[in-house]
Amino acid sequence: ATSYVGFDSITQQIEHKLLKRGFQFNVIVVGQTGLGKSTLINTIFASHLIDSKGRREASEPVRQTTEIQTVSHVITENGVRLRLNIVDTPGYGDQVNNENCWDPIIKYIKDQHSAYLRKELTAMRDRYIQDTRIHCCLYFINPTGHSLRPIDVIVMKKLSEVVNVVPVIAKADSLTLEERESFKQKIRGELFHHSIRLYPFDTDEYDEEEVQLNESIRNMIPFAVVGSEREVNVGGKAVRARKNRWGVVNVEDETHCEFVSLRNFLTRTHLQDLIETTAQIHYEAFRSKQLLALKE
Ligand code: GDP
Ligand code: MG
Repeated sequence: ATSYVGFDSITQQIEHKLLKRGFQFNVIVVGQTGLGKSTLINTIFASHLIDSKGRREASEPVRQTTEIQTVSHVITENGVRLRLNIVDTPGYGDQVNNENCWDPIIKYIKDQHSAYLRKELTAMRDRYIQDTRIHCCLYFINPTGHSLRPIDVIVMKKLSEVVNVVPVIAKADSLTLEERESFKQKIRGELFHHSIRLYPFDTDEYDEEEVQLNESIRNMIPFAVVGSEREVNVGGKAVRARKNRWGVVNVEDETHCEFVSLRNFLTRTHLQDLIETTAQIHYEAFRSKQLLALKE
């Protein structure tokens, strides 16, 4: 006779364990100086993901990012704890000679893989390894409206070999909606032409729904984003926005820019897949290469 043994509770057991442990999500921002990387980080943290404790005052002097540094917040929603780490990088590609200027960033990403592997290989390894591997790289593209710079092509290609790369059009408020759309198409064409394989990848593990979701992301990329550290009064409500010669650009208004789409992509729809893809594709490639080298 068949009898109920209760193993279907395994999903609750897993959930309980995961909830206790919490999640860690690591994002890096990369691109030329002045494209609004640091601003976007602050916008993400200040937008209603978090009530903005660490908000900067508008009078603070403009800071320059001179080294790789991590901004970190713990967010809790309905008992789920997420540690969101965003790694800010100094701009590169500002020099006359830009050769190998991306090396420190690639090295940083590989160092995290290396640290993880070392912990994995330790005999008395911790039950749970702190994960500093980068799950997503936001690559900032200059809003020229024309085309990618040669250095963008080189760097995105290099990055895409070690991390999930998601391109964004920086300071999208400097382009009209029409300009943005044609710029996006141009960029998608160039990415294809240069065989740059960006996230999301196709695997046969995805179900119909996931396949469609990924298709919609591919059609939207690069996300045209606007960041702001200030609040502007719009109809009696304080919103994150920028004032420009055409009026007020509300960062969180989906008819103004794709900041909300990017945030949803990162936190609502692809968080788990970005983490999983990092482990299964990027980290695994690094790991097997290292282990092979050890054997020789
Ligand atoms: P980073 O060097 O890439 O970190 O750039 P910052 O975040 O320091 O920003 C450089 C300048 O661009 C600052 O004056 C920002 O106020 C401005 N900025 C940032 N984001 C935007 C944006 O979305 N639109 C516009 N027009 N300006 C922005
Ligand atoms: Mg900066």
